[in-house]
Amino acid sequence: MSTNLNLISLLKENFGFDSFRPNQKQIILELLAGKDVMAIMPTGGGKSLCYQLPALALPGTTLVISPLIALMKDQVDALLVNGIKAAYYNSSQPPQIQTEVLTRLREGKLDLFYLAPESLPFLLSRLVNSNINLIAIDEAHCISSWGHDFRPAYTKLRVLRNKFPEIPILALTATADRATQDDILEQLNIPEASRHIASFDRKNLYLEVKPGNNRQKHILNFLKKKQQESGIIYCLSRKGTEKLAATLLANGHTAKAYHAGMTPEDRNRIQEDFVNDRVPIIVATIAFGMGIDKSNVRWVIHYNLPKNIEGYYQEIGRGGRDGLPAYTLLFYSYADIIQLRKFAKGTATEEFQLAKLERMQQYAEALSCRRIALLNYFGEHVSSNCGNCDICNAPPKYFDGTILAQKICSAVMRLKEREAPGMLVDVLRGAQNAAVLEKGYNKIKSYGSIKDIAWRDLHQYVIQLINQGVLEIRFHQGGRLLLTPRANAVLFRDEQVKLALIDQVVKEAKETFTERNSASLFEKLRSLRSRLAAEEGVPAYMIFSDASLRHMEE
Ligand code: ADP
Ligand code: MG
Repeated sequence: MSTNLNLISLLKENFGFDSFRPNQKQIILELLAGKDVMAIMPTGGGKSLCYQLPALALPGTTLVISPLIALMKDQVDALLVNGIKAAYYNSSQPPQIQTEVLTRLREGKLDLFYLAPESLPFLLSRLVNSNINLIAIDEAHCISSWGHDFRPAYTKLRVLRNKFPEIPILALTATADRATQDDILEQLNIPEASRHIASFDRKNLYLEVKPGNNRQKHILNFLKKKQQESGIIYCLSRKGTEKLAATLLANGHTAKAYHAGMTPEDRNRIQEDFVNDRVPIIVATIAFGMGIDKSNVRWVIHYNLPKNIEGYYQEIGRGGRDGLPAYTLLFYSYADIIQLRKFAKGTATEEFQLAKLERMQQYAEALSCRRIALLNYFGEHVSSNCGNCDICNAPPKYFDGTILAQKICSAVMRLKEREAPGMLVDVLRGAQNAAVLEKGYNKIKSYGSIKDIAWRDLHQYVIQLINQGVLEIRFHQGGRLLLTPRANAVLFRDEQVKLALIDQVVKEAKETFTERNSASLFEKLRSLRSRLAAEEGVPAYMIFSDASLRHMEE
């Protein structure tokens, strides 16, 4: 009780706020109790306060690792305005300022000390001799090569746990899927840290995915209804942004391209024009958006498929910051997949990139609520349909797939959560191939328990279970499948699972095709797929399922 009162009065006196945001108080209490914590909260969620307030509550200095000099400076300036003793240290400062800051640190005159990760090795012994009370690591996803923003200097942070065995460590980030979260804790050597995941749900964003043909026409029609509303269109290439912006202009829309190839002056000007409502439409590469504070973006369109779900989620998250409804649309095309696979090829993180792209693909092909798929990706387990996405709006035909799901889940369990979807499907169908026999999987109870469903369809059902959060795929561990808490409910409490009927989807698509007589296009796509599969040495279904090829040509 008294801790609560103290915290509230610290909050009010030093920051001028009356109450805590979700998760803040719990995180602060755990840190004050000496525990390690990982805080995953969306941008703007109030992460900084989670260490700034304990910094004031505890004697000594809080060490804050922060990746960007501009961020450090902004934060320290804001703290100084509130009369809080804070300073930062990085390699861009003149030597006499650096010395001054270090003197204040030594004399215990700082509540918060901000440091760039690159400078940590040089200051380690000084820090050990200072009275450090808490260590906060901002943008902690930078430590993981599975995250989307890997920073080599972050890997040096591992020494912190050794050098400060008694000091609580707080890892903060806004973007980390489940795999990256695990990796952060391992890399920082704080395996027991408690995780606080604030909800990532942005209920006001409508989620829609459409096949990528006729994109331009579709956008032009869409814009007729959206006069004067602000929106962003994300394209894959710089050239793509310029071409599309020119087309929009030619059709009477005020649109500007934005990409990293432009001069900083041009970029600033365009950004200002957008923020101040002088230019309603920006056609940009992913270079656009970081740090842009505009609350009334009413729609976000992905002209091309994003590389991964983190990027997609961040980009659509720029819509509807004011909490009012905003519309998001993702165009999904086979050509984009090919392009993105090419980009990933030969890079150091190729394997992760391809695996993440595959998850992006699975999201785009989802046959159940998109929001559930999205939130599950970030480790937030929800099971009720959102009612604010294209699938919820026009659901496919579902059947009660509980028994099928139970069979699949028990096979995952009997395979000791070690195998990827391909092997799982082989085992379920009782395949006789060498891999299955060598591992002795023909002797487990699930072997051959679902023989009557085609390989590809069964594989698609497994993907549906991933999208619904019944199974989780560890793409950095050979794509092995794990059971989630929801799987336990399905297995042991008969929780119902609805699955979209694949046969039906394919059948309907086939009918559409004969009607429109566009089979030749489909065949073209199929042969392209075979070629790509041969090039990559993978089965064709791993590139794309027939159902999705048809879907794309609708
Ligand atoms: P994040 O780092 O999670 O993106 P910040 O720590 O920068 O977010 O906080 C975002 C904004 O929210 C800041 O302007 C901050 O002052 C404000 N804020 C944080 N906590 C509270 C609170 N409890 N009440 C009101 N505003 C808060
Ligand atoms: Mg922050």
